Amino acid sequence: MMEHLYIKSDKKRGVEATFKWLNDELQELKEALNNKDKTALEKEFADVLAWLASLANITEVNLEKAALEKYQYKCPKCQQAPCTCKFIKVKSDVSAQHL
Ligand SMILES: [Zn+2]
Repeated sequence: MMEHLYIKSDKKRGVEATFKWLNDELQELKEALNNKDKTALEKEFADVLAWLASLANITEVNLEKAALEKYQYKCPKCQQAPCTCKFIKVKSDVSAQHL
């Protein structure tokens, strides 16, 4: 869908500027998460997904295929569904990494 809507303008903008837009939208998502505003959250999740899809399109990555190949029905680390990995907190209370 995003490719159909925006591929010409996305290609013209380029990878670096599109990544900047994605990063800006992630910051707006963070603000919506902090404000616990459901309507704003829905809008910001949609914006992040749209810019991620645009970045995938201009780098000729099939986002859906890549996600399905890596995460299809099981965790890529522990190979279980649901995931059985143990997570630890790092740096802030919103970051985590696999042990
Ligand atoms: Zn796992």
